Amino acid sequence: MKIFVTGGAGYIGSICVEELLNARHQVYVFDNLSEGHRQAVDSRATFIEGDLGDRAFLFSAMEQLRPEAVMHFAANAIVPESMTNPAKYFRNNVGNGVNLLEACVQSGVSKFVFSSTCAIFGMPDKIPLREDLPKEPINPYGESKLMFEKILEWFGKIHKLQYVCLRYFNAAGASQRYGEHHWQETHLIPNVLKVALRLKPHVELFGTDYPTKDGTCIRDYIHILDLAQAHMLALNCEQSDVFNLGSGTGYSVLQVIEAARKVTGHDIPVVKKPRRPGDPPKLVADSKKIRKVLGWEPRYDDIEAIIESAWNWQRAHPNGYR
Ligand code: UDP
Repeated sequence: MKIFVTGGAGYIGSICVEELLNARHQVYVFDNLSEGHRQAVDSRATFIEGDLGDRAFLFSAMEQLRPEAVMHFAANAIVPESMTNPAKYFRNNVGNGVNLLEACVQSGVSKFVFSSTCAIFGMPDKIPLREDLPKEPINPYGESKLMFEKILEWFGKIHKLQYVCLRYFNAAGASQRYGEHHWQETHLIPNVLKVALRLKPHVELFGTDYPTKDGTCIRDYIHILDLAQAHMLALNCEQSDVFNLGSGTGYSVLQVIEAARKVTGHDIPVVKKPRRPGDPPKLVADSKKIRKVLGWEPRYDDIEAIIESAWNWQRAHPNGYR
């Protein structure tokens, strides 16, 4: 298929692009490089530097290319930042996303795969999280993604655009060639590995008084290659649908740090800090639906294997793509 990938220079996008190319799809990466890296774009893909806010450029690029499918990764995705700068999240994740949808309708795209998030659920009272649980985001990031899911539903109804929303839990790990490098690193695993690489003196532990076994937040870490696999399967999905995409297993922040100590052989010092605003105590996916409907099966459902792949990449690229 001819696939137009927004945000294909970012962490998740770049690895999905690599997997799409391995599966012999024809890939066009559209990215403004605000968060992504040119070096993260596989040379087999065609790269277009552009911003989804630039409607004229976007519409003409899509009109020219006439892709069959669009995968939409481009978004801002830092929860703490969304708590201080909500406008950035609504403008980019919602407003610019609508530009993309209009361009899809105009250029006759028939399939749309959207990077959604478990942050749309807010503070769920039932774990594991099924697709139909109430959605009450507690940060503008989650709200912006939920708004876009709803907009997509209307575009599906009115313009017959077929879509799949994949609600990611915590993407982690790396492929052989591409890994996680954010300009401003807020995620747990890369920060823990920076300490193991002696690039940081300690890891900050945000909150030790959550209502969980060891008092730290529980998350569902999914290997980036398993996540990429779900995108391949989503291309074959016949109807519009939404899926929670996580391994179904939860690990606390302390368990992740302990696993990283084992994998890296470094003692990773920890400094306790207050809770980080916008963090729900526990997010774990119920992955039954995606397994059943798309036939998705995680291959790396083990926190040490996930951390090991991230560690191999970080060690080979201590400065990321810099
Ligand atoms: N966390 C932490 N120290 C860090 C980064 C994250 O204690 O340096 C915690 C964070 O508060 C959350 C969990 O680790 O409870 C996962 O955070 P991350 O930012 O990786 O993902 P999120 O679930 O927020 O998308």
